[in-house]
Amino acid sequence: MASYAEKVLAQVKANNPGEPEFHQAVTEVLESLKVVVDNDPVYEQTGLLERLVEPERVLMFRVPWVDDEGRVRINKGYRVQFNSAIGPYKGGLRFHPSVNLSVMKFLGFEQIFKNSLTGLAIGGAKGGSNFDPKGKSDGEVMRFCQSFMTEMFRHIGADTDIPAGDIGVGSREIGFLMGQYKRIRNEYVGVLTGKGLSYGGSLVRKEATGYGLVYLSEEALNSRGDSMRGKTVAVSGSGNVAIYTIEKARELGAKVVTASDSGGWIYDANGIDLDVLKRIKEEERGRISDYAERVKGAVYHPAGDGSVWDVKCHVAFPCATQNELDESAAKTLVANGVILVGEGANMPTTQAGTDVFLANSVIFLPGKAANAGGVATSVLEMAQIDTRLFWSFEKVDRKLQAIVKHIFTNIDDAARRYGMPGNYVAGSNIAGFEKVADAMLAEGIV
Ligand code: NDP
Repeated sequence: MASYAEKVLAQVKANNPGEPEFHQAVTEVLESLKVVVDNDPVYEQTGLLERLVEPERVLMFRVPWVDDEGRVRINKGYRVQFNSAIGPYKGGLRFHPSVNLSVMKFLGFEQIFKNSLTGLAIGGAKGGSNFDPKGKSDGEVMRFCQSFMTEMFRHIGADTDIPAGDIGVGSREIGFLMGQYKRIRNEYVGVLTGKGLSYGGSLVRKEATGYGLVYLSEEALNSRGDSMRGKTVAVSGSGNVAIYTIEKARELGAKVVTASDSGGWIYDANGIDLDVLKRIKEEERGRISDYAERVKGAVYHPAGDGSVWDVKCHVAFPCATQNELDESAAKTLVANGVILVGEGANMPTTQAGTDVFLANSVIFLPGKAANAGGVATSVLEMAQIDTRLFWSFEKVDRKLQAIVKHIFTNIDDAARRYGMPGNYVAGSNIAGFEKVADAMLAEGIV
């Protein structure tokens, strides 16, 4: 007979057809939770899993805007308010052509557990649009953001739902969104995070996801008497998460030899020159191929010509997007002697890829835990705007490190309690679930 978790998984697949990313995220979580929910009837009696996998609210809306040629353009807008059991909805906004309901729901679902793992009082949500900011003028991006917020403002609020950035939504987009929110609501509140420093942002927020990933990896390595020092590291992506992952890995004594974007990837045997990479990506909004033109010895491969995972490394940090590291890439990494894989992106490893790492005793840090430093620092940003105080870089960084330590202890402990020491996929799903489940049970059938 199918177990409770298996029955709910079958229902999710039947009730949400054509949503493969959402199915993948729910499958991974429910597989881990079997050991918890199948041994205590209270979960089934209260329909807890059925409620957990159904978003509390899904908003879909039209985003009309006018391009520089005067043509009317229409994009789809989304906000999935997934679970508010432990606090107001919180999660990023993604602007990328691949955005659809399945991607929004997978990201919102993952966010529930990630936010819970931080130990902070925030629920899970995600939103965005299939709008592509790449190649658009600043004026076009501004008009799009203003139109997006003109609908979204009525669904969010400092105590209701606090969006942030994600792929395609950086400080420029957050600035335009905040400007429009303030204009419509006539109130200056911390309704968005990732803001610029001149209007309520926090130091370290920009760096937080990448730094948090490396801090957690260092914790995991330290627990085995090892460290990042002297390690060769492969990173994918060259956006916000990738850049600050590279920065912190270098600070801790590692050498990062790869980066990528959707056009291709680079290998730099001397270690990535971060000043050049930041100039290309943060200032010029250029392509990764520009890097190889400027840095002697760096080699550029267009997309399709191998991948960053072909490079021999001790540590791999996928920091671009979902399902970018598959079974075959995982096998190559294992054959090349990888010892730790930390997910900077959300669900960048396929289920089969994850299985390869777990079967080969690679330290595998799933995105829910590994990239939670970003959302945790968003909460530190909210605390500052609520009190009108501005904390030093060192103070925010110290708090981020303390939160990451808490996350490691939490996932390590949960994995041990259920007889799977070192399995941080199970540890993260279980530890993230426990707090949310307690709150849902306490709050009754809602
Ligand atoms: P950015 O937009 O700053 O950078 C994304 C990077 O990934 C770019 O180099 C981009 O290349 C590449 N990329 C995106 N989509 C694809 C694709 N389909 N194929 C190949 N390359 C792709 O985003 P972030 O750095 O903020 O986000 C990266 C990942 O980290 C995402 O999974 C996000 O959900 C996750 N994350 C981000 C957090 C944050 O604080 N920003 C917090 C937690 C998780 P190109 O420019 O060519 O598109």
